[in-house]
Amino acid sequence: MDNIFFDHPKLIEYISSNDYSEAARLLLREQLKVWKDLDSAYTSLKSVQLKSFQYNGFVIKVQHNPGRVKSSTAKVDEKSIKERKCFLCPENLYNEQQALKYGNDFLILVNPFPILTEHYTIPHVNHIPQRIREWFGSMLLLSKDMQRDVLIYNGPKCGASAPDHLHFQAGSKFFMPLDDEFHSLKNEYGEIIVDDDKITVAGIDDGLRKFISVETNDIAAAEFVFKILFESYLKVSPDEIEPMMNILVLYEPQKEEGEFFGWRIIIFLRNKHRSSHYFRDGEDRILLSPAAVDLGGLCILPFKNDFEKITKNDITEIFKEVSIGKEQFEFIKADIKKSLSGNSFI
Ligand SMILES: [Zn+2]
Repeated sequence: MDNIFFDHPKLIEYISSNDYSEAARLLLREQLKVWKDLDSAYTSLKSVQLKSFQYNGFVIKVQHNPGRVKSSTAKVDEKSIKERKCFLCPENLYNEQQALKYGNDFLILVNPFPILTEHYTIPHVNHIPQRIREWFGSMLLLSKDMQRDVLIYNGPKCGASAPDHLHFQAGSKFFMPLDDEFHSLKNEYGEIIVDDDKITVAGIDDGLRKFISVETNDIAAAEFVFKILFESYLKVSPDEIEPMMNILVLYEPQKEEGEFFGWRIIIFLRNKHRSSHYFRDGEDRILLSPAAVDLGGLCILPFKNDFEKITKNDITEIFKEVSIGKEQFEFIKADIKKSLSGNSFI
């Protein structure tokens, strides 16, 4: 393995101020200069076709992105995974690919198949399975150090194309419609589970997606709530090591005195990896494999035909099918509320 670590005279300035968003952008700019396929991928992203469907209070965009065929159709069963070389292990990176070190555990890489205008993959340095429970705190710290970006986690059965290698993704904030729409969605469709001066937890069902949101500037409180949520969710997912979820985290810096600053965490609760549309034959098939970015309101369709034919009704059906059922969602919200009430952590 050659030296894969990115180095640049400007890097030290960004690293010493913990500004990994800037450091990652520097990496992207430098990689684009020397990596031809990467440059083509980011150039094509500028001209991808988009269309939007308007819902009551939110929008779902659809992006036709041919570069994502491999990832949308990734075989993630145990046998296929064992037979392929892991593309996130340092020894298997592309020849041109360089890595920015983040602490002792993670590498920040440029994503060679971008969806977002700046798009990074953040694998663990070791080949360990995709599991969030132990690493949720690391995700929060990463997001605080990458304040221009949103951090993304896809569960091993919810869209991660490498379920055998722990990784996050990160990319430009406000590229997914949900980044902007969150507050109005919470007001319109949210049920407050906990709200005090330290933390706000809500359950949101907008008719398509069901998610729990957590807003706080207290990392210990966020981790505590996540643990409670994980345990409640396990109660209705008895066969899973990790209940099915996708997570988006962004860190809002303090702008004005008295205004909220801290983490905004969105946890989508899932029922299925892919909807029935994915498995249909011929013309009826729609190759949409929903992960965090899709649920954030930016659906990725690798095939032009699907992009052209997909309707608002298809999107509604697909999202409903892959999201957790109403009864389970009600149970989880009530169970979190019960566990948190009277708790001394707040
Ligand atoms: Zn690996």
